[in-house]
Parts: sequence; structure tokens; C-alpha cells
Amino acid sequence: MTVKAILSAKGRHVTTIEPNVDLATAAKILAEKKIGALLITGAEGRVVGILSERDIVRTVAARGASALQMPLSEVMTRKVVTCTEAETVSVIMERMTAGKFRHVPVVEQERLIGVISIGDVVKHRLQEMEQESSALRDYIQTA
Ligand code: AMP
Repeated sequence: MTVKAILSAKGRHVTTIEPNVDLATAAKILAEKKIGALLITGAEGRVVGILSERDIVRTVAARGASALQMPLSEVMTRKVVTCTEAETVSVIMERMTAGKFRHVPVVEQERLIGVISIGDVVKHRLQEMEQESSALRDYIQTA
């Protein structure tokens, strides 16, 4: 199973935001859209950072409520680990585990074309396991 198969099933929409927006606005967008991370894009839609709900918790815990006025550029993670459509879901799972994050943007030719969350990975892995066990059951019944 590839990243492309996941994107074909879930769609390619990504919620993006600009680096000069404040943390309070980002928190509102995360809550409204019921998502866990925003991709921060700069010139020509290039990914310049990622902000997850964990970054908001960490910053508010360290600086108090005034942190909500800070621009995302001061809070986001700048070194974003990405993947391409052709990569397999198991490789993405390993990347998430090694990096201790739950979101991986999909980038092709420096263009953001989707995002894979740990929820997407688990959902597709479960579907794969169900298909494997059903194929095994069929095989046993016909053998
Ligand atoms: P998450 O588990 O995705 O909520 O993110 C945990 C931490 O990792 C946060 O500091 C995020 O900014 C960061 N993070 C999330 N996704 C990525 C990624 N693909 N590459 C680099 N850092 C990330």
C-alpha cells in the first residue's frame, strides 16, 4: 500500500496557514477543522514549517497565555520531514515512529499535495490486515 492509495481515498486537501499569523488563530483553525496540525507555507506555496497541537501546548506551558499572540514563525517546527506519493505506508509508519510525530506532508516537486496522519496510517493498516485475514479464511475453507 502506497501513500498515493491513501490520498486517493481521503483526498488531497491540506489546511495551510502563513507564518505571520498568531498562535490563537492557528488554535481556532485546528479546533474548527478538528485536525491536529497545520502546514505553514511561504512563497509559491512551499512548506516552511509545521505546527501541531503539541507545539501550542508546549509554548503556552512555557510562556503562559501571552504566547497566543506569538507569530507561528517563532513556534513552528522548521525542519519538516516529508514523503512522496510512491512511498509505502510501512516506510511512513517507521518515519513517524523514529521522528516521534504524527503528521507527514506529501510533497512532489516541492509542491504540497497532501498530508498523511497517524490516523490515516492506522486505518489503512487495519483494512489491509482485514483483507489478509479474509483471504486466509477463504483459502482454508477451499483447501
Ligand atoms: P505531532 O505528533 O505530529 O502532533 O507533532 C509532534 C511534534 O513534531 C511537534 O513539535 C510538530 O511540530 C513536529 N512535527 C510534526 N510533524 C512533523 C514532520 N513531518 N516533520 C518534522 N516535525 C514534525
